[in-house]
Amino acid sequence: MIVTRADFLKSATNEGEYPEAGAPEVAFCGRSNVGKSSCLNVLAQRTHLARVSKTPGRTRLLNFFELDLVEETRSGAKKPAKTVRLVDLPGYGFASGPREERKRWKGMIEFYLSRREPLRAFVVLIDGEIGPQPNDHEMIEWSVSLGKKPIVVATKIDKLKSSRRAAALQKHAAALHIPAVLPFGAKEKLGVNELWKALLLETGLLP
Ligand code: GDP
Repeated sequence: MIVTRADFLKSATNEGEYPEAGAPEVAFCGRSNVGKSSCLNVLAQRTHLARVSKTPGRTRLLNFFELDLVEETRSGAKKPAKTVRLVDLPGYGFASGPREERKRWKGMIEFYLSRREPLRAFVVLIDGEIGPQPNDHEMIEWSVSLGKKPIVVATKIDKLKSSRRAAALQKHAAALHIPAVLPFGAKEKLGVNELWKALLLETGLLP
């Protein structure tokens, strides 16, 4: 997969600020520090794409990015580009803040997850080394209740010895009562093609 274009579109809190519906959207959520920005940068093949999401004032907003992807066939020929949007949702570090702030965070995410028409896939990132935490369980159960079954991705998988990875992923999946958790490592670019494939299948961009 080659990313031929990766643009920051805009930040938003409410529907009126969302970019006009266009390409299918994939939203990313996780606890602060789980490796979400690193994951987005690796997927987008850009070093600093998700830096905008960390800009003061933007950390509590939905940040929309738009990418063009070109798949290379085995013969090296390029297929026409597919366009997809990655939406960086604010980390749930803020969800443990003051009550009012928690309420605002919840309202903003709930509206986006349940009402945004182009949303096709929802990714919850968990820390592959430490496994799902209580707020990860909560996030996953809540999103399922909103009708969005998440793709769960275990980040920082390089921190586990390769001989321990498969068992750890199985354990995380069992704890979450889901069939599978995908491994990902931004540092060593592990699981990148597999994650892209899962996302494109879910968006319908891959047949
Ligand atoms: P965010 O707060 O969820 O956006 O997390 P960041 O992407 O900023 O990453 C948080 C910390 O985890 C940083 O110190 C990263 O360098 C580190 N990190 C992110 N991805 C990986 C990874 O794949 N492997 C390792 N070892 N560290 C990672």
